[in-house]
Amino acid sequence: MKVFHLSVECFPVAKVGGLADVVGALPKYQTKMGIDAKVVMPWYNKPFVNENEFEVVFDGFIHQIHHMYQVLVMKEKHNVLGYELYLVKIPGLLDRDQVYGYFDESQQFIAFQHAVLHWLSAMEIRPDVLHCHDYHTGLVPFMVEYCQDFDFLKGVKTVGTIHNGEYQGTMDWQMSNYMPRFDAWKWGLLDWNGRINPLATMIKCCHEFTAVSQGYMHELFEDAQGLQDLIRQEHRKAHGIINGIDTEVWNPMTDIMLNDHYSKENFEEGKEKNKKWLCEEYGLNPELPLFAFIGRFAGEKGADMLPDIVRRSISETEGALNILILGSGNPQIENTLKQLQEEFHVNFAMDLGYKEALSHKIYAGADFLLMPSRVEPCGLNQMYAMRYGTIPIVRYTGGLKDTVTDISSGGYGLNYTFPGTDDAVHAIKRALYLYDDKEEMQNLRKTIMNLDFSWQKSAENYVNLYRKN
Ligand code: ADP
Repeated sequence: MKVFHLSVECFPVAKVGGLADVVGALPKYQTKMGIDAKVVMPWYNKPFVNENEFEVVFDGFIHQIHHMYQVLVMKEKHNVLGYELYLVKIPGLLDRDQVYGYFDESQQFIAFQHAVLHWLSAMEIRPDVLHCHDYHTGLVPFMVEYCQDFDFLKGVKTVGTIHNGEYQGTMDWQMSNYMPRFDAWKWGLLDWNGRINPLATMIKCCHEFTAVSQGYMHELFEDAQGLQDLIRQEHRKAHGIINGIDTEVWNPMTDIMLNDHYSKENFEEGKEKNKKWLCEEYGLNPELPLFAFIGRFAGEKGADMLPDIVRRSISETEGALNILILGSGNPQIENTLKQLQEEFHVNFAMDLGYKEALSHKIYAGADFLLMPSRVEPCGLNQMYAMRYGTIPIVRYTGGLKDTVTDISSGGYGLNYTFPGTDDAVHAIKRALYLYDDKEEMQNLRKTIMNLDFSWQKSAENYVNLYRKN
């Protein structure tokens, strides 16, 4: 079975968040199951492209309005990721440094989808499945069926995955001029409330669609930023499949980004060394429990509550803990946290930016990982944390519901229900009690390091979906 994963992120080529981790790992596990899984993504000016060898497998053109754009499809020569990787380069559109944030983003994503289908049609490559990840590739199921130029691909099975329904890529109807020619009478499939909505189009046109956890899929039925009615209407195609983690990349015994490795047997010593390094680096006291946050400074992640959580948990416990934050995003949150760092520098440190290696060191060195999320489709951080023996403190939502059970119900993490500072600080105080019970801490760490969050099961679930009639 030939499966093409279409995505704008894939680790380690280009990563902004969890989408990259998923698209980087899932095909690897599917390949092990005998599936011919490939990844197709835009070309970026990133270290990976300069450090690896590519060959041009297609050189053609697409038209957008009055412009003709060259399309180059480049295949990575040695399958270094464990599967075939194709990068689509369009000089002037898909040849940039960053994944997101450009003024002509909608045009870029339309061009990517157009170029992929043009390449496959022109070369008469017919996949069994086109697996579209998030709204950036959400127009593909429509284009396959209703764009005359891609008649060769008509009927190919399309599966869409919603990694984050908050982002839908809506655009003005004028942007339809940038689309490849389509059956005009099918325009309604592109429309949602008077705008082109690629996520809505994906849900309407694909054969099956998934959300990245069952908990999140249930939530989408209630509230999907305006798409809940559509999702309910299309419920027969809806499935919740929890993400896994790449246990080869995320392994404290072999992780190339750690200074000190450890296993399930010697985790106490290993975690202590990693914690000591972090505390020295950030001027924190290694004798105190270390709480960490890693992520985008966005409302979904509850990042706007972080300043209050930091201030209150340090004051109310008279400085009985350390907090370390790694992330970036909303400038107001960044500035408030910077000011707090000056005020609470004994107990609080932060590092601004996207730092892959540091994130691994934090998962290894922290005692607890905070996730005060308002919305969390799946969440990978809690799974990475547990794999590294770090206890998650999570707000009970989306995928966090599916992966973290509270210790009071025989589980292995700390949960709270309401997305506010009061409950978050209360959970932190519960964690401090736990931290004082050395034996319980040790048992919990052992338990969470033994949990299986690998892709095995979920990769199989996807394949079953590909095979579904
Ligand atoms: P998102 O909604 O951001 O995709 P996920 O939990 O699905 O959230 O995935 C987040 C991924 O991004 C994890 O691999 C996490 O370690 C990583 N990450 C987030 N922010 C940073 C950062 N500032 N530096 C390094 N890694 C980060």
